[in-house]
Amino acid sequence: MNYKGRMSRLSEAMNRERLGTLVVTHLPNVRYLCGFTGSAGVLVVGPKPIFFTDGRYAEQAAAEVVGARIMIAKGPALIAAANQAAKIRKGNIGIESEYLSVSAGEAVAEALPKGVKLKMTRGLIEALRMVKEQAEIDLIQDAVELGCDLLPAAFQAIRPGVPEVRVAAEIEYAGRRAGAEGMSFETIVASGRRSALPHGVASNTPIPAKGFVVLDFGVILHGYCSDMTRTVHVGAASQEERDLYRAVLDAQMSAIAACLPGSKLADVDAAARNVLKHSKLDKYFTHSTGHGVGLEIHEPPRVAQGQKEVLRPGMVITIEPGIYLAGKCGIRIEDMVAITESGYELLTSAKKELIEI
Ligand code: ZN
Ligand code: ZN
Repeated sequence: MNYKGRMSRLSEAMNRERLGTLVVTHLPNVRYLCGFTGSAGVLVVGPKPIFFTDGRYAEQAAAEVVGARIMIAKGPALIAAANQAAKIRKGNIGIESEYLSVSAGEAVAEALPKGVKLKMTRGLIEALRMVKEQAEIDLIQDAVELGCDLLPAAFQAIRPGVPEVRVAAEIEYAGRRAGAEGMSFETIVASGRRSALPHGVASNTPIPAKGFVVLDFGVILHGYCSDMTRTVHVGAASQEERDLYRAVLDAQMSAIAACLPGSKLADVDAAARNVLKHSKLDKYFTHSTGHGVGLEIHEPPRVAQGQKEVLRPGMVITIEPGIYLAGKCGIRIEDMVAITESGYELLTSAKKELIEI
């Protein structure tokens, strides 16, 4: 991992924002900048970066942290980090606003000497993380492949009468056995009418004798997330159901084909939406087309209406259009795509033809 390059890109961004010092509290950002994977640590980025953690992580920090001095704080790491930032006092002190609770913000303000003001930042490091290094894309590809390998376990578990949570359990168990550090998010198994819930986390509902089952899951491997959705059908699908599935698949493939460096994210979203419009299904597509994936399951950019951000080589995004007919059924198909210099690379290898179980 190119920690040096990341730090220098961050210092350029900090210069643009007129920040001399930045207090980084969001753990995925801390990991991105210095390699620390533990659950408590704050990085102060300035002329000489310093990483603060507590005694529990002394050994881990010594083994993992790259490019920053390690300090073991006696009290809360955040307060120690804020004090250090005030001591350096080179220019304005920035702090990540999105991850700071009101009480933590107050505690930091109280700890700072009078006259030292905090500048709230937004998405500074996330903007850097949006464009992945090749080494990151390789790790994401490994996670995606592991995710694809879990589909047979899911298909085997799906039977009428089996609760959705059992299917989720089989997916997750197979994932762990294959080396997953965890799931990227709560596994979605939404069957029958529940498939019309875009975020139908696996419940105790038994899988009905007939109908769609939406499977949306991902694993974490080497810290990087995967994300995929497949919709299968229990029993034989009707012609109407096949047509609905086909429309979603066409929309998904059309959006993937639109993934080119230089394209606007809004246009990728529109590519999916326009296909569904042809079959008058666009009103059932109630969410955005996709999102960035990396150290976190949802990270910038957003593949959505109104997004002027442009695709750049190194971005890794999902393409996941879906339609949801309340009380009836839902279908979603999701792959991950890496943007290259000349186009895109489809990271998800699992087949997309409608499977009947
Ligand atoms: Zn997903
Ligand atoms: Zn997703």
